[in-house]
Amino acid sequence: MNIAAQRVVSIHYEVKDEDGVVVDSSEGREPLVYLHGHNNIIPGLEKALDGLSTGDDFDVVVQAEEAYGDYQDALVQSVPMEAFQGVEKVEEGMVFTAQTQGGPLQVTVTAIEADTVTVDGNHPLAGKALSFKGSVNEVRDASAEELEHGHVHS
Ligand code: ZN
Repeated sequence: MNIAAQRVVSIHYEVKDEDGVVVDSSEGREPLVYLHGHNNIIPGLEKALDGLSTGDDFDVVVQAEEAYGDYQDALVQSVPMEAFQGVEKVEEGMVFTAQTQGGPLQVTVTAIEADTVTVDGNHPLAGKALSFKGSVNEVRDASAEELEHGHVHS
C-alpha cells in the first residue's frame, strides 16, 4: 500500500543535523507511527514520504523552513533573575515553560550574567537542515475514529 493522506504510516528512521550528529532515531524502539496528511510530522518529511510503499527506503535532506522553522532572534530574551522565583539555582541548559501572549512556550536558559538570564524560545533544531534516513515499515488505512481525531490510535 502507498503512503497517502488518511493512511497510517509506520517508519523506522534516523535524523542527523548538518554536522552529521544523530539527533533522533527509532533504533531499538518501536517505529514512529503517524497519520499521513494531518501535519503530525514535520512538513518536509511528510512530503518526501508521500507515495512511498511498505519496504521502501528514504534518504532526504529537509531544509529548516520545512523542518522546525528558521531561527528567530526575537525568541531570545533577557529576563531579570527575579522572574525565576522559587527556582533554587538557575543554570544554563535548564528548560522552563514561559507564559507568552501566544500561549506557553518552552525556553532554554542559554546564558546567565549577574542578575540577568538569557532565554531562547527557539526549538533546539530551529534553523537547521535535517537529514532523514530510514524505511517504511507499514502502511494501512486509518479507522474512521482516527480520521475524526486527526491522530493514530494504538
Ligand atoms: Zn483520539
